[in-house]
Amino acid sequence: MVHDFSRRGRWLEMMRRAREILQTVIALTVLSVAAYAQQPVFHVLAFYSDTVEHDHVEFAHQAIRFYDEIAKRDHFEFKATTDWDDLNAAKLAGYQMVVWLDDFPHTPQQRSGFETYMEHGGGWLGFHIAAYNDAETRWPWFLSFLGGGVFYGNNWPPMPATITVDDPKHPVTRRLPSSFPAPSNEWYLWRPSPRENKEVKVLLTLAPSNYPLGMKDVLRGGDVPVMWTNTRYRMLYMNMGHGDRIFTSEIQNRLMEDAMVWVGRSER
Ligand code: ZN
Repeated sequence: MVHDFSRRGRWLEMMRRAREILQTVIALTVLSVAAYAQQPVFHVLAFYSDTVEHDHVEFAHQAIRFYDEIAKRDHFEFKATTDWDDLNAAKLAGYQMVVWLDDFPHTPQQRSGFETYMEHGGGWLGFHIAAYNDAETRWPWFLSFLGGGVFYGNNWPPMPATITVDDPKHPVTRRLPSSFPAPSNEWYLWRPSPRENKEVKVLLTLAPSNYPLGMKDVLRGGDVPVMWTNTRYRMLYMNMGHGDRIFTSEIQNRLMEDAMVWVGRSER
């Protein structure tokens, strides 16, 4: 009996130690998960220019403040620069996405740096004038990247508009109502419509009820997508980005937030 008791005692001691080890392992795991949750999940480099149209610069500055404020809760790191020469492989190696707030690259080196980045899985979020291109742009890769639409017209002055959600289930739009009032913006018309490209997924469109939209320059109708993605890339374009009213809508601010998070976390 004594012998049996001592065996049982050793067994209990082993179980106690095993439990201690298991508790330590669990505690360490919880700590490291918590530490991981504090780390940025993705890193963003936003490009802008201070020397372009005043209303676009104003938007860029407000956007930088907006994304600075939400970066922590959405687990990303947000940096902004006016140095478009940073569009090169060495600089972009540490960033999962780039943002163009109020301009686009103008030199062949900046353009080819961006092409290489996007063709190797980089992410892009472009606002408003970021997608502007016309006969003078002479950058065929970029036109194809955007889905084929060339700038064709706009409303003036900037005005609010009703926006229709094309796909309410998409991660970028699922926190939006099926249609919503967007604050004052200069809206661009593209020809051909990016929707005609089978690789493009349109997410938001100007509602037909807006037309005619404008006074000096008028959008009279037709298909005007305002947000889309070319599914061949990790990219999202949104037409919002003119003036100081863009961040005055809580609904649209959700969109601004979800757009950034979707591109940053998406995989090709
Ligand atoms: Zn504008």
